[in-house]
Amino acid sequence: MAVYLCISFVPLLLFFNTIMISIRDYFQSDRQNKLSTSVNIIASTITKANYFSHLGDESKRLMMDSDIAEFSAQGSYRILVMDNYGMVLNDSNNAEVGRTKIIPEVKNALERKNANAIKTHTSEKTIYAAAPIENEASEIVGAVLVVSSIEDIFVSVSEIEQKLIMYTAITTLVMGVLVFAVSHVLIDPLSSILSVVQKMSDGHWDQRIKINGRDEYAKLGHAFNEMAEKLEKVDNTRQEFVSNVSHELKTPLSSIKVLSESILLQDGAPVQMYREFLQDINSEVDRMTRVVSDLLQLVKLDQGGLGLNIQTANINTMVSDIFKRLIPLAGQRDIGLTFEDVREVFIEADEMKLASAISNLVDNAVKYTPNGGSVKVTVDADHQNAFITVSDTGIGIKEEDQGRIFDRFYRVDKTRDRETGGTGLGLAITYSTVRLHNGSIRVVSKENEGSSFIVRLPIHFIRGD
Ligand code: ADP
Repeated sequence: MAVYLCISFVPLLLFFNTIMISIRDYFQSDRQNKLSTSVNIIASTITKANYFSHLGDESKRLMMDSDIAEFSAQGSYRILVMDNYGMVLNDSNNAEVGRTKIIPEVKNALERKNANAIKTHTSEKTIYAAAPIENEASEIVGAVLVVSSIEDIFVSVSEIEQKLIMYTAITTLVMGVLVFAVSHVLIDPLSSILSVVQKMSDGHWDQRIKINGRDEYAKLGHAFNEMAEKLEKVDNTRQEFVSNVSHELKTPLSSIKVLSESILLQDGAPVQMYREFLQDINSEVDRMTRVVSDLLQLVKLDQGGLGLNIQTANINTMVSDIFKRLIPLAGQRDIGLTFEDVREVFIEADEMKLASAISNLVDNAVKYTPNGGSVKVTVDADHQNAFITVSDTGIGIKEEDQGRIFDRFYRVDKTRDRETGGTGLGLAITYSTVRLHNGSIRVVSKENEGSSFIVRLPIHFIRGD
């Protein structure tokens, strides 16, 4: 507000000052010009009347007196007639007759310094204007001095000044109010954004900016709120992730603790019991190892495309290898494995990571399909993308769970899925891998009927940021 006022108020003051000086100068120089003309007319009238050659002539003197009185009345100024020595011969005020006065303007007129024979005396508020009087031989014999008051100019100028002061004050007031209002309009939204930002930097992620209107501030507010939402989500995910990891590791650790304590407390337990308990402990350790190795795999994927080892990979061979590994398990459970390779597809990818991603899908399909069901993998491509579809006739996934199954540690049926040996990280690994290859994955599923996971991968790898 101070800046705005300075910008508008200082020029206004300068403008005001300049205007007042110009007005006063204009009036004064106008009056000087008029007086200069008048004094010259009076001087030439006296010159023509030849007054100075007949100083003793009473009738001439009376004529002169009346002329001067008339000029003085007309122009409302005082007229003095002086001789070469400064003696006042005639005074329209009749005050100084017979006295000798030394007046610079008169002196200058007597010396024909016409330019300096007129001067404004601001302190006395008068103008002195003098002009020489000549005789028949064009010799200077005296001078006329006109003394005019400029009080009226001062009065007019101060009237104008008062009006201007009033206008300036009103303008300043109106401007002040406007500036105050505008500064509020400009500053208020910024202050509220700032206070929200400060609260957020103190860790209050739930803070949001209140948005009014559709101006640039509103856009800034929207962008900021979106960013805040993402940050809050990231923070929540991080907390959830840490608590999930702790929980996943705590469960097997508690089992190990219970198992080992119960053997230690039993004196002389049979060897068979030791063996059984150690087997259980061993499988809990395996479970922890699986969780930790899956987590490490995810951490590597989170580091982005830098860790990828891109080569040309044959998807068909990849799927055949996965099938070879799964045939014994599928056979045991009487699950039919079908591989529909529509065409041979080569893509640029990190073969190891991609194989593990697809393997997670096929493992899940077998794992979540009851005995006697079937699992089918289809490999196809167009000129840009490869498509890998893994379908099963298994338990399916409820619609409300379909959006969350790619989240880390998310399991539809917590207890049952843990029993199946899954870590809840398989689909998260698959999702991250596919995304790193600039592909996409989606699920189509119906409860108790089966699921299909459709993966799309660009044939040519484009390295992202
Ligand atoms: P898990 O190691 O538990 O299998 P995943 O991340 O691989 O973890 O899968 C997450 C969850 O998604 C599983 O716990 C399961 O509930 C569900 N799921 C995954 N694949 C299938 C499928 N083919 N059919 C039914 N449910 C599935």
